[in-house]
Amino acid sequence: MEAISVFDMLKIGVGPSSSHTLGPWRAVQRWLRELSAEIDPSDIDHIQILLYGSLALTGRGHCTDTAISLALLGHDPVTVPVENIRQYVSDLERSKSVDIGNHWVPFDPVSDIIFLKSERLPGHANGMVCRASLGERVLESTYYSVGGGFVVREGDENGDAQSVTLPYPALKAQDFAEHAARSGMSMAQLVRANEATWRTEAEMTRDIQAIWETMRDCVYLGCHREGILPGGLNVTRRAFALHRKLMPPVPYSSSTEWLRALENQHPHFNQVIKWVSCFALAVNEENAALGRVVTAPTNGAAGVIPAVLMYLICFCEQAISTRQIHDFLFVAGEVGTYFKKRATISAAMGGCQAEIGVSSAMAAAALTEALGGTVPQALMAAEIAMEHHLGLTCDPVGGLVQIPCIERNSMGAIKAINAAQLALDGDPASAKVSLDDVIVTMDQTAKDMSQKYKETSEGGLAVNISVRVPEC
Ligand code: SF4
Repeated sequence: MEAISVFDMLKIGVGPSSSHTLGPWRAVQRWLRELSAEIDPSDIDHIQILLYGSLALTGRGHCTDTAISLALLGHDPVTVPVENIRQYVSDLERSKSVDIGNHWVPFDPVSDIIFLKSERLPGHANGMVCRASLGERVLESTYYSVGGGFVVREGDENGDAQSVTLPYPALKAQDFAEHAARSGMSMAQLVRANEATWRTEAEMTRDIQAIWETMRDCVYLGCHREGILPGGLNVTRRAFALHRKLMPPVPYSSSTEWLRALENQHPHFNQVIKWVSCFALAVNEENAALGRVVTAPTNGAAGVIPAVLMYLICFCEQAISTRQIHDFLFVAGEVGTYFKKRATISAAMGGCQAEIGVSSAMAAAALTEALGGTVPQALMAAEIAMEHHLGLTCDPVGGLVQIPCIERNSMGAIKAINAAQLALDGDPASAKVSLDDVIVTMDQTAKDMSQKYKETSEGGLAVNISVRVPEC
């Protein structure tokens, strides 16, 4: 049975897209490693990257070319200083060469990244070919960015599948519910037991804390940065103004002090709604500005889980410990794996239901367990959240991850909170629809959905709002 770690579902990276930025970035890194093992880099005369399908159609707006350039320059999405990204790319545009194995190879990002908008590769809507020319010889490798930053090389039978044996393996939500019923363990306890296959307890704590701190800092930065987002749509950041309206006049000088100040607020319902929206907008504005975000399970949907987690920490009645924050993230990540295994988390395959819908389901389950719900109630919450995202299309205006994406995260977060509340008062034994039913339905809906609505910007809002060509 395929085993996916929570840390594969929640990954630290750079905006604006997991499938179009993080995936191609990882694909090029992998290609460079494989190429260097196969040939002497000093034999390379020239390299080119060819983009197909959705990668070609919305790659410019999703900064696929930027990601490829950064990968070729040797940067990693986890560690690259995000404030220097534009400088690195413009330096490359001037130098037109990259260092591969201490050998300078000609590469002009303007002409050597080729967007083949009318062509698709058979394996997935997000296909790319990495090509190296060595005299008369041409070496090509094909990769697919299959959503959430996952990459599969053509010919790899198992793709990303890992061959470890987990103590509590689960292909479906029902498998996990049965483990819980037999063991009497919570979702978070079961996930921790599984994660121990890959990491020690100390490593698990370190790594999940890094995920949480990245989310928290992203929300904080997004709430404190004003201005216009890049890309040419002239979208104004809204979290800044909303935060200024909502935040009481208390002093703070860091994200931790700010969070502590928020925990002491007791806002009314309408203000809570605004705060949740503010948190989600903040993350996705950072994402749109090539900031550091946690892919959860994608970048376009990166705001939903942090927004719901912030809601739990700041506005629910009980005090939330660091361990509970970690548990929240473990549960969210686990639920995401069911969608990855049996449907898709790629908007190019399933539209926005695969991004915002999945993130909302992940957050709903995590919130339910954090608020004292049982495992069946947590899974019921995930089902409710996804049920009401079925059929959601992906139609990013101008190919940018801004409209409708940023605002849509606030909708996904609010739906997750609502789903959790319904499930906490619900009886899973009498539910007519299970999480597994809704995952199968989502997969079928994805297959029936017109290509226009799968991250191509060829339908929906993308064709009804006139914009100029994005600069990103
Ligand atoms: S519309 Fe949804 S799926 Fe499409 S890019 Fe935006 S957030 Fe992602």
